[in-house]
Amino acid sequence: MHDKLQTLAPVPTQTQDGVVFQLAANISSVKELDQVLRNGASGVGLFRTEFIYMDRDSLPPEEEQFSVYRQVAEKLGGKRVVIRTLDIGGEKALDYIALPEEENPSLGYRAIRISLDRTDLFKTQLRAILRASHYGNIQILYPMISSLEELHKANEVLEAAKQELRAEKIPFKANIEVGIMIEVPAAVIIADLLAAEVDFFSIGTNDLVQYILAVDRMNETVAHLYDPFHPAVLRMLKTTATAAQANGIHVSVCGEMAGDIRALPIWLGLGITELSMSVQSILRVKNSLLQSRYKESAAIWDELLRCTSGTAVLEVLNHHSHQDV
Ligand code: PEP
Ligand code: MG
Repeated sequence: MHDKLQTLAPVPTQTQDGVVFQLAANISSVKELDQVLRNGASGVGLFRTEFIYMDRDSLPPEEEQFSVYRQVAEKLGGKRVVIRTLDIGGEKALDYIALPEEENPSLGYRAIRISLDRTDLFKTQLRAILRASHYGNIQILYPMISSLEELHKANEVLEAAKQELRAEKIPFKANIEVGIMIEVPAAVIIADLLAAEVDFFSIGTNDLVQYILAVDRMNETVAHLYDPFHPAVLRMLKTTATAAQANGIHVSVCGEMAGDIRALPIWLGLGITELSMSVQSILRVKNSLLQSRYKESAAIWDELLRCTSGTAVLEVLNHHSHQDV
């Protein structure tokens, strides 16, 4: 089966009735890039930059970060590379940044909240990303945005980084695209406002499901309640896609749900054609997509919105799926 899937790598990624998809990879290190290319990914839809900061005893200098980002961009040729700014906190700790002891780390000092507090380290990272943008097709992604103020503040730091580089006559892509993770329910509720101010949305279903359902994604005891197909999650996905489409920005999904073939009719029905997933999932999702028809999923949302449980949602999806792996 593995060999059969591998033959799909160069095949154009589209449904039987011609809806073209971008299937990109989530990566956490440059080591994964060979497999990203081997599996025919459309690019890197989520570059988790945490690894650059981990397993060391001081902040990575700009030069070192620049060299990693540039390497990824160049290796991908002109393909899109979405670099997410630092997403630490919660269970991901760094020895050299004092993180407070917290009762609820997932609701605490993490991700963009740290970056906006420690603008020194945030600006260093943004400078490195901007400099690398001269060498490929790089876009910036902010994690855990929950308000317009956070977006504005992040963009102020980005603007300051650009000003510095201009003054230093260092080249970068001036109109680099900037997007946000949609992974906090508040961001979904104000998706119409956010969509007017960013270039793209990337839906992080791992955290979004956790926060919508108030179920810790790391807690085994409540794992049975962690349901990506819960009707509340589906409604949030629809709200997000609708706001993005109304504002003419593109929207992708980069949580684990993107790599789940059962969810494909959901994306087809919403008109979401960009998915980013672990590199091992790409060919399996592609195989399923190649057997799908947009026509059969176009009206699925009427049925999905009538479902009163995750189990009912899965039953509807089963009817609409095409899978032989
Ligand atoms: C997510 O939350 O869905 C996501 C992609 O980010 P992470 O898993 O790194 O939190
Ligand atoms: Mg997340």
